[in-house]
Amino acid sequence: MKDIEDELLAFTESPLCEYRTENKYFPVVGEGSCVADIVFIGEAPGKTEAETGKPFCGRSGKLLDELIASIGLVRADVYITNIVKDRPPENRDPTAEEIKIYGLFLDRQLEILKPKVVTTLGRFAMNYIAQKYKVSVGPIGEMHGKVVELKSRMSLVPLYHPAVALYNGSHKQTLLDDFQVLKQFI
Ligand code: URA
Repeated sequence: MKDIEDELLAFTESPLCEYRTENKYFPVVGEGSCVADIVFIGEAPGKTEAETGKPFCGRSGKLLDELIASIGLVRADVYITNIVKDRPPENRDPTAEEIKIYGLFLDRQLEILKPKVVTTLGRFAMNYIAQKYKVSVGPIGEMHGKVVELKSRMSLVPLYHPAVALYNGSHKQTLLDDFQVLKQFI
């Protein structure tokens, strides 16, 4: 993990690196337990995350903490990261090229972590993991809260991105309900 972090700090081969340097942002590698059974994968860092180098430390992060607490865990029990490790300007969606570039770092993190369950937050992370492990998935509206077997001893649970619940109150209850599915992996 330390090698990955050092490589990302020195990384210049992404269209997002110049934006990071100009704004004195940090790459956001991930944080939590390196022996976690549950890994959460978001989309890309927002402003607060890029300023601090920590994943999910803004408003979505507060909700994620609440959701994690709802299954009796704290951040230190899980590992939290994103597909894209540098902030896209104005929080725009990551491009296919950016996902491809940073996905290689995520792949290495998953090799190290070997979690029981990969919990994706939002459709970008779900689609990336589904493609990587060659499983077919439907739209996030159909897939959220379902357990998809990826390979022996590793599952995928797609969830809505917590940011969705900040704009649509009813999604918070859906997220709370879906989180219960993760209890079987603790
Ligand atoms: N949204 C994400 O997808 N990741 C973060 O780290 C913060 C907000």
